[in-house]
Amino acid sequence: MRATQALIHLDRLQKNIAAVRNRIGPKPLICMPVKADGYGHGAIPVAHEALSSGVAVLAVASVQEGIELRKAGITAPILLFSIPLPEELDDLAAATLSPFVADKDSATALAAAADRAGVRLPVHLKIDTGMGRVGCRPEAAAALAAYLVSLPSLHYVGTATHLARADALSADAMAYTQKQLARFTQALDAIRTAGFDTGIVHAANSGAVFLHTDAYFDMVRPGIVLYGYPPSEELASLVQLEPVMELRTAVVFIKKVLSGTPLSYGGTWIAPADRMIATLPVGYGDGLPRALSGNLQVLIRGALYPLAGRICMDQCMVDLGPDTDVRRWDPVTVFGGTGEALTAGDLAAKLHTIPYEITCNINKRVPRVYCAGVGKCSITDCL
Ligand SMILES: *Cc1c(COP(=O)(O)O)cnc(C)c1O
Repeated sequence: MRATQALIHLDRLQKNIAAVRNRIGPKPLICMPVKADGYGHGAIPVAHEALSSGVAVLAVASVQEGIELRKAGITAPILLFSIPLPEELDDLAAATLSPFVADKDSATALAAAADRAGVRLPVHLKIDTGMGRVGCRPEAAAALAAYLVSLPSLHYVGTATHLARADALSADAMAYTQKQLARFTQALDAIRTAGFDTGIVHAANSGAVFLHTDAYFDMVRPGIVLYGYPPSEELASLVQLEPVMELRTAVVFIKKVLSGTPLSYGGTWIAPADRMIATLPVGYGDGLPRALSGNLQVLIRGALYPLAGRICMDQCMVDLGPDTDVRRWDPVTVFGGTGEALTAGDLAAKLHTIPYEITCNINKRVPRVYCAGVGKCSITDCL
């Protein structure tokens, strides 16, 4: 197998699930989003591990993602967060995904697809309380609930909203979340007053799991914390998590360069003195952002070394210093390892983005290697 691999530490996923369970107490269900191929970790193995570690419900963003889970034999409920096209509804119904419904037209079309498939399709009523993405207005929720209940081929099983600022500590953000939760609660009351059962009520993403106990309701939907990252840097100290993805590669070439030698495209790095240089077979063609050129350190034999020069499509270079104990074929951790290794959160911070984007962007050229934990894993140096 290729030197560049994403090790997926499933034992760390287990620990992160346990940390969330510990935080929320025994009652709320856990729904784990495995959209975008499990935030880049591989949706199917992550889903299997999650379901055997106490997660009850999965969530995806596209019908295709849901179908892949069903093909892998997964029978757990699968929420569909994003709006499907009309031509996707028959496949959605055949796979018995549970879509968010935010308007009557969608409900009508889903009911027709469910009829054609001969299934009763579970649906969740989605209320927009301040995210501005998908959902009905809170004042329209009771009428939509009535409409869902009137369609025999739909089964109204849940009511949800999504929080826009639950990962921030500022007074403004806290107040905004409270306002969203108040609107949500009002809509839930209106649905109940109209005589309908809201089903499973859910709102909390990762931020809310750690900051907003009153957002737990019947189920929480944390994604990024289960993959091992706080949803924002300001929550980092609140949350003890273990990064599930470790991006590994290897030293495939070592050479000495003389003082004044330029490296890589554009010659932006020039050896300040005689230097030992390693070449790694990883680049932006694997999803390692080129914008990290000159701004990344990788871990080799327990020590951090800086990249030298621009990151290429398939390779990059490392400055090992004037003399080195690093040897050809030594393993290299780019992020997500133990010890001094950087995390996807560190890479994200350098790029003014979020760890979600770093792990999602590690693409399909990088094989995922699943690791069940110390003593249960065939990967050398797996810790
Ligand atoms: C992605 C997503 C989540 C999970 O968000 P995290 O920030 O990863 O916890 C929860 N709910 C919805 C609707 C989402 O789209």
